[in-house]
Amino acid sequence: MMRILVAEDDELLGSGIQSSLSGSGYAVDWVKDGQSALNFLNAGPYDLVILDLGLPRKSGLQIMAQLRDAGQAVPVLMLTARDTVADRVAGLDSGADDYMVKPFDLDELLARIRALLRRRAGRAAPLIRYGDIELDPASHLVTNRGLAVDMSPREFFLLLELLENQGRVMSRPALEEKLYSGDDPVESNALEVHIHHLRKKLGNELIRTVRGVGYIVDKTA
Ligand code: CA
Repeated sequence: MMRILVAEDDELLGSGIQSSLSGSGYAVDWVKDGQSALNFLNAGPYDLVILDLGLPRKSGLQIMAQLRDAGQAVPVLMLTARDTVADRVAGLDSGADDYMVKPFDLDELLARIRALLRRRAGRAAPLIRYGDIELDPASHLVTNRGLAVDMSPREFFLLLELLENQGRVMSRPALEEKLYSGDDPVESNALEVHIHHLRKKLGNELIRTVRGVGYIVDKTA
């Protein structure tokens, strides 16, 4: 089942979207402020996000920036109350995939969602390979010698970050920043715990500790 996150503080519109999406067979989580949206996105993954530009606690643009900074490529449909060129440009420049101006027809929203999900399915995301390990950024699938490896979203993003930076030592703060966005408290040993899990799942030799600095995945020969 496709999972969609709806971030909209307008009660009437939010509940309308939620019931319309649920009625169309999507699994929907509805949040009413920007910080909750980020928390839900971190716990994800979602197949699509419907994001109101004007949200309390964190704006739609701030959320977009954090999402794309964290390397999350989930499609985002942005909603706004104001139809100005500046708003539209800001929304699309921030990395949103589509844009609707309120008030809009729920049937049109559903059609745009289907189009975005189709486009996403067809998008060729390059696989990242490292030895016997394959990571697909689009589907969040990780395989080792062709076998699927179970992974939490945070483990996934940590592995993605390390594999995208092969041969470079990643400092603890840099990795923690990728794992936790916004005001989430970072438990002091959380990073070690995730690294420990990754090593257990993918082999001890994959991630090397650089004492006092951070972690590295060595370049393959
Ligand atoms: Ca709003």
